[in-house]
Amino acid sequence: MSQVTFETVAECSRTRARAGLLHTPHGTIETPVFMPVGTQATVKGLTQRDLADDLGVPILLANTYHLYLRPGHELIREMGGLHRFMSWPNAILTDSGGFQVFSLAGIRKIREHGVEFQSHLDGDLHTFTPESTVDVQLAFGSDILMALDECPEYPVSHEYARESMHRTLRWAGEANRHFQRSVVQGMTGHALFPIVQGSMFADLRRECASALLDLDADGYAIGGLSVGEPRPLSLEMVEATEEILPRSRPRYAMGVGMPAELPEYVARGIDMMDCVLPSRNARNGYLFTSEGRVIIKHQRYRNDPRPIDPACKCYTCKNYSRAYLRHLYQAGEILYSVLATRHNVRRYLDIMSEIRHAIISDSFPEYLKCARSAPVAAE
Ligand SMILES: [Zn+2]
Repeated sequence: MSQVTFETVAECSRTRARAGLLHTPHGTIETPVFMPVGTQATVKGLTQRDLADDLGVPILLANTYHLYLRPGHELIREMGGLHRFMSWPNAILTDSGGFQVFSLAGIRKIREHGVEFQSHLDGDLHTFTPESTVDVQLAFGSDILMALDECPEYPVSHEYARESMHRTLRWAGEANRHFQRSVVQGMTGHALFPIVQGSMFADLRRECASALLDLDADGYAIGGLSVGEPRPLSLEMVEATEEILPRSRPRYAMGVGMPAELPEYVARGIDMMDCVLPSRNARNGYLFTSEGRVIIKHQRYRNDPRPIDPACKCYTCKNYSRAYLRHLYQAGEILYSVLATRHNVRRYLDIMSEIRHAIISDSFPEYLKCARSAPVAAE
């Protein structure tokens, strides 16, 4: 019996949006949920106390590719698993490593049994197979594991996308069989999500989603988005896929998106999202507010006594001015990244919380309309 289960709490009467509860061995998560990205078992600029206690983050994403290469999954297993290693009390989802192999690794060769790649750290050769990436994630003790997939670049031909999607399907079956053996042996009660691929072809997306239903997985992910395609196309792919996936399972759109996109994905039946944008953009001086973006290096903020976002209740906004943050940024101070990341992550969590409340009070379409007409830049 899986310890990862999903229940729907409320459904929007006019869109595909729903609010739910995702139960995991490390806590119950209110959905829709945004998962901050802790690539190297850390969200850059924040302590685990900031994340869990101050921000209330219920689930983090960590990257299998990075942690497999360094410090290695055997070391993490020896240190008691990822939760203990990084001292994180809440849930962890790990990706399969597929996306990083295809975007970061040096020379790589896609074989039928898996993918061979060269580490971007030292050039060593490694192989990921559907089984080995499950084993790596089992060593981490992730609450939610992802099946190895091939994430094709954009654009690719229909022919290549089809061949690649069939490989992803085959890998998902192999990963699932291997994972189920561990479940039967009582080694894990966690969940493995397969990933729908098919590039930007709706027919392939539908074919992939339909075939994955056979796995009767605890949740399904939609991958291969945010690879350079125009945004309307990503949303179209989600629409094509989502109507096939069972409503009783959580759906996860991988690697999306900007604040304005979050309600768009939710409106299309998505429950889980992750993105590096709040933390990465924070470090680059790009802050998200309820009134639009703030580019903190701009001269206009030099003597601006207002907080980043007057409507935000985060520690940064309660205590510091735009003028001070701009000064820290210009001076290259570490504290800038700490304060800016804390705010940006809070902004994403606030958006998800507003969305959830709107769904529960059946006012989500109005919320969506408002979000679509929101200003791009703050004053
Ligand atoms: Zn704030």
